[in-house]
Amino acid sequence: MSANIELKDIHWMIDMVHNIDVGIVIIDPDFNVKVWNGFMENHSGLLTKHMVDKKITDIFTSIPKDWLQHKVDSVCLLKNKAFTTWQQRPYLFKFKSYRPITSDADFMYQNVTFLPLTDMLGNVTQICMIVYDVTEVALNRLAFQEANKKLEKLSHTDHLTQLNNQIFWRENCALEFERAKQSSTPTTIIMIDIDNFKKINDTYGHQFGDDVIKGVADLIKKETPQSAFIGRIDGDRFAVLLTKTELNNAQTIAEAIRKKIEVIVFNCQEETIKVTASFGIAQMKESMADYQAWINITDLGLTRAKENGRNQVGIFEHE
Ligand code: GH3
Ligand code: MG
Repeated sequence: MSANIELKDIHWMIDMVHNIDVGIVIIDPDFNVKVWNGFMENHSGLLTKHMVDKKITDIFTSIPKDWLQHKVDSVCLLKNKAFTTWQQRPYLFKFKSYRPITSDADFMYQNVTFLPLTDMLGNVTQICMIVYDVTEVALNRLAFQEANKKLEKLSHTDHLTQLNNQIFWRENCALEFERAKQSSTPTTIIMIDIDNFKKINDTYGHQFGDDVIKGVADLIKKETPQSAFIGRIDGDRFAVLLTKTELNNAQTIAEAIRKKIEVIVFNCQEETIKVTASFGIAQMKESMADYQAWINITDLGLTRAKENGRNQVGIFEHE
């Protein structure tokens, strides 16, 4: 700005600063307020006369002093602008948001620019903070991120059981195979398939079949450790990935699930129906070529259980 501003110009400049639709706050290096414009008055309810010569951090106690000191020091030292965005710090001054549709935003999101103000000798004597209301942008961005998160979860989830779907379970299984191989951590798969499920569908209908699948899925969730990665990998088939679990521990877990399944009672009209399931288990071995080989060995264990009469746990010894 030109140095030879005429006195008559000062008036409209002050007017402009006061009425502009961004917050303008000027502080000295000790954080004392020198200028507090109309935007700041309107949103804080604090008039200029209440703010001038007050320490900004005494009035807005949520502004971290150390953080502000760091900003002010760097602006003074480098004689350069500094910024803070709503992603780094949602707001500097906690103002209410007046947007009626944005019930999830009860405060104004802000971007803030810190500007060094120099005297005639070029020394930074004051710092101007320009406060931008970016609530609209922030809320749109947050809603977009939230929608993306939901979509991602949907694309990973089996809609009937809310377990992981086959694609996602297999992706994770492939990763876990590599992890277990590198770290030599015992990791085991349990595969579970409901016995004679076609007959249940044929006798009681598809809808009842769905209830059975859901019931078995809930039971598997309940009976496995929190860290278990469970997927529905086919119509009536589930797979559980157990990290840090040896074969014999997995066998204990599988037996516990098997016993719970055989006693659970499903009701269809007047009838009570019971189901059983067969299990295959296999611990990852370094000699396995890839995760698919690991799944195949688990599957062979399950086939053995079916062949031996169902409602049991089968293990196929992998050489
Ligand atoms: P096995 O003891 O050998 O497993 O016999 P099974 O009759 O259970 O045979 P299988 O596991 O091959 O049958 C699975 C059946 O599950 C076949 C298919 O009609 C049915 N199915 C697949 N998806 C669904 C589903 O989402 N809902 C219902 N109700 N049935 C399904
Ligand atoms: Mg089956």
